[in-house]
Amino acid sequence: MNETQNVYEQIENIVGTKYVSDSEPVCYSYSMNCDFTLQGIPDIVVKPNTPEEISGILRVANKYGIKIVPRGNGADLTGGAKPIGDGGIVLDVTRMNKILDIDEENRIVTVEVGISWSELCEQLSNVGIGYYTGSTGPASGFSATIGGGLSNNTVGGGGAAMYGAVTEQCVGLEVVLPTGEIIYTGAKANSFRDKPFTRFGLGADYSGIFLGDVGIHGIKTKASLNIYPLPEYRGYATYVIKKTKEMTPPERGSKVMIKWQHDRLQLHDFFYYTQSTVTSLKGQKVAKGLINAKVRGATLFYTTVADTQRQLDYNVERIEKIAEDAGFEKLGPTVEEGNIGKWFYEEDGRWQWSNHSWAGGYLFGMGGCVKCPTYQLPDYRRMYDDWVKRNFAKMAEMGGVGGGAEFVAFGVNPTYIDVAGGAGVLSSVEHREAQIELWKDFLITQIKELGAVHYWMGEIIGRSLVDSGALSEEYYNFMITIKKALDPNKILSPGKFYLTDKY
Ligand SMILES: Cc1cc2nc3c(=O)[nH]c(=O)nc-3n(C[C@H](O)[C@H](O)[C@H](O)COP(=O)(O)OP(=O)(O)OC[C@H]3O[C@@H](n4cnc5c(N)ncnc54)[C@H](O)[C@@H]3O)c2cc1C
Repeated sequence: MNETQNVYEQIENIVGTKYVSDSEPVCYSYSMNCDFTLQGIPDIVVKPNTPEEISGILRVANKYGIKIVPRGNGADLTGGAKPIGDGGIVLDVTRMNKILDIDEENRIVTVEVGISWSELCEQLSNVGIGYYTGSTGPASGFSATIGGGLSNNTVGGGGAAMYGAVTEQCVGLEVVLPTGEIIYTGAKANSFRDKPFTRFGLGADYSGIFLGDVGIHGIKTKASLNIYPLPEYRGYATYVIKKTKEMTPPERGSKVMIKWQHDRLQLHDFFYYTQSTVTSLKGQKVAKGLINAKVRGATLFYTTVADTQRQLDYNVERIEKIAEDAGFEKLGPTVEEGNIGKWFYEEDGRWQWSNHSWAGGYLFGMGGCVKCPTYQLPDYRRMYDDWVKRNFAKMAEMGGVGGGAEFVAFGVNPTYIDVAGGAGVLSSVEHREAQIELWKDFLITQIKELGAVHYWMGEIIGRSLVDSGALSEEYYNFMITIKKALDPNKILSPGKFYLTDKY
């Protein structure tokens, strides 16, 4: 019996025959995320059901020196949830998808991390007075899991302007360490405490080293998150921002967004769509309102929430005055008239706004979402345009047509925005290597020219960050020290940030 078979049998003994596979179609399908590239085909795919099973699998992997990559729903766009290079095990956590506790008194939900954002919010909405998670995960949240979101430091709207990234809602985690030990972080690390309530205390912020870690420090199995009552009153409006003689739409838009943020208005979300994003939404018939609306220009929409009509009127008046003073044209109140703010809030738009651009198809998407101060929005527009100008001929050569670089920018609590998007070129297997090089160039340009702070670090972004030289030697050594202490045998997600190559 060869080693892989031996490992397979030991894992089969842990999870049962039904939940492990080495069949070619299964392994091949787990060699991909939503992105096209960086394909590594695993030898084994396993779907455990408990932290103890995960612990057992990790112990086997340590014994035989086999790599493991944790995976939620594989909606990653940067090569995160699949092996770097062939071989190893992909560990899919989606069988672990139950809500374990809803502490209404303290407004905290504890879940198994394989549940999706939309499923969790749907179930929460039917409990007591009706709740949600505040920041409701990524635009892929119909399938993406809580564990994937916390590992990717996800933010996607659905409350981001009010609550921030999903990691900010986390008050504790259960994690299986790479060597197999199971720990709880946050207040529940006190074994005399039955329920979590804060992420801090009992030492340093140990939850923090697992949040946004892209699965290199441990496998999350349970997470506790703050929850909030569903707001009774909601308001939304959508504006068109045209170019003026003095200012471009991103310049005009960012000024208003900054004022909204500085005035601490009750914004639940605000989104800036470029003219081409609007055109694309129209073309794809995603937001039905934009199909007929004669929108020419960028758009900006906001959503606000309140507990009373009076409070709502107050919010709407203050938010809209700033947009009106800036001379933005307001579209009609219905979705059909172009009010995509309403579509976003009332019609699950928060879980769909980017599906047209990221859901595969004919484009090779070079994802490069970043977080940045709101005032940098015009700089990103300039950088993207210049980069496309420099690379247009190259893109045309490799894909048959030229490509572009686009983004949507949205508010994140308290004073920054997320510039979500990247570049795209017609997908072509023949030119794949050149396309990956181009993607790296795009990422490194973002990092060097604008000090970009990416957050899903998957394979390509984490490695481009290192390749760009942005990390000081001391910082990088600090990352290596932590990784080595937790994962001495280089089992978990090896290759990310090249960390396991360094010890
Ligand atoms: C249409 C579309 C829209 C998107 N919109 C957004 C958006 O608005 N905002 C955003 O941030 N991202 C977005 N993404 C990217 C991605 O979907 C999200 O980051 C999402 O949170 C990933 O969740 P997942 O469950 O699919 O995780 P996966 O893709 O399975 O994994 C993501 C990363 O987390 C690690 N991981 C997963 N589960 C665990 C675990 N239990 N323990 C430890 N590590 C783990 C994986 O190894 C991988 O590195 C989008 C993607 C698509 C296709």
